[in-house]
Amino acid sequence: MPNTDRHDCIIRGTVVSCGPDVAPQAGTDALDVFTDGALHIAGGVIRNVGPATTVFAQAGSDHPPVHDFRGRLVVPGFIDIHTHCPQTNIIASYGEALLAWLHRYAFPAEERFADPEVAEETAQFFMDELLRNGTTSALIMGTVHAHSADAILRAARARGMRVAAGKLMMDRNCPEPLRDTAASGVTQSRELLRRWHGAGRLTYAISPRFAPTSSEEQLTGAGQLALECPEAYVQTHLAENTAEVAWVGELFPWAEDYLAVYEYFGLVRPGAVFAHCIHMTPAARQRLADHGGATAFAPSANLFLGSGLMDYPTQAALGVTTGLGTDIGAGTSFSLLRTAATAYQIGALYGLPLSAAHLLYLTTRGGAKALGLEDCIGHFAPGMEADVVILDPEASPLASRRTAVTTPEETLFALFTLGDERHIAATYVAGQPVTAHRSTHG
Ligand SMILES: [Zn+2]
Repeated sequence: MPNTDRHDCIIRGTVVSCGPDVAPQAGTDALDVFTDGALHIAGGVIRNVGPATTVFAQAGSDHPPVHDFRGRLVVPGFIDIHTHCPQTNIIASYGEALLAWLHRYAFPAEERFADPEVAEETAQFFMDELLRNGTTSALIMGTVHAHSADAILRAARARGMRVAAGKLMMDRNCPEPLRDTAASGVTQSRELLRRWHGAGRLTYAISPRFAPTSSEEQLTGAGQLALECPEAYVQTHLAENTAEVAWVGELFPWAEDYLAVYEYFGLVRPGAVFAHCIHMTPAARQRLADHGGATAFAPSANLFLGSGLMDYPTQAALGVTTGLGTDIGAGTSFSLLRTAATAYQIGALYGLPLSAAHLLYLTTRGGAKALGLEDCIGHFAPGMEADVVILDPEASPLASRRTAVTTPEETLFALFTLGDERHIAATYVAGQPVTAHRSTHG
């Protein structure tokens, strides 16, 4: 075991994490709850977790400092598996559905990333905002500019976060300044992959934006890169909006459906994360599950753009690996608590209200599974990386009133309904408490 360092600590509070593959309506038995619990963190990883009395006894009399959060919930760091750093700057933009929204808001914001200073400053702000909201890991889209991925991954490295990101590949159907070429998209992605993939806690994600903005030649190149580097992620969008789905049908008339385009080019596999997956048949969902691909469920963005409701009961019944995405800037909040509240509401519309255990699963372990990181992050066990969030039910009068006399599970559910960044009392990255540094911007 590593020697004690100045960041070793014991976090005491109501420790809650969840088991593998938590069903949508699973109850308390799907949760590991220690009401007076403790996490012993040493060298950035969890050395011990359990009842406080046991953890203190096993730590001995010279145990490291105690961070006392009794009365608060201690949960794994949140994992956001679909979001766009450059779109931070156009969150809360009015009035369009997906394709018009891209042209009116997203593409102009991404064009401003041609300036490396804009990319750098936005990436710094973005990472601080993630941490302020308790998100310690994320799968992030940059822009077409290679330096956008550099800026995101540098900002993550400076904060010790486990993050994956990629430059977008787009060689058609977007403004000229945002186009790479089939060849340069692959060459730049390969260079970034070599520079960043596996550097500390960082991972590279091969990132064709979505089928309409990549030529078949570029998608072929993306598939070849994916074959060259099977441990890299693939991230893209799939079946978000009906007009988009119809457009894909026109652009790829040979494909059985939208998913079949990505299948043909070798982009559907473990470590491939597809955002949205709304307008899909059960058979297509089954194929996604069979190939080991995962879905980023982004309910806030889906409602904001009027894209539709993901069929959560079918998705869950087919066992498609699913995590949550805020999808900034179509999504309306960096908070996975708020995003989970919207997921609950969509489940409720389908007659499947999601339990507290499942909402915790979606925000932590489900995301870890989608990223192939269940042995590193997403739940508490000895040897896991110590990314931790402290949830404070007393941070707002209403949540405080609602949770005054409840079980840990009820408190968790109340925070998934009422909570936001105010309720994040502290965020730990690899065992270190981090303070969000507000970027200077103006
Ligand atoms: Zn997106």
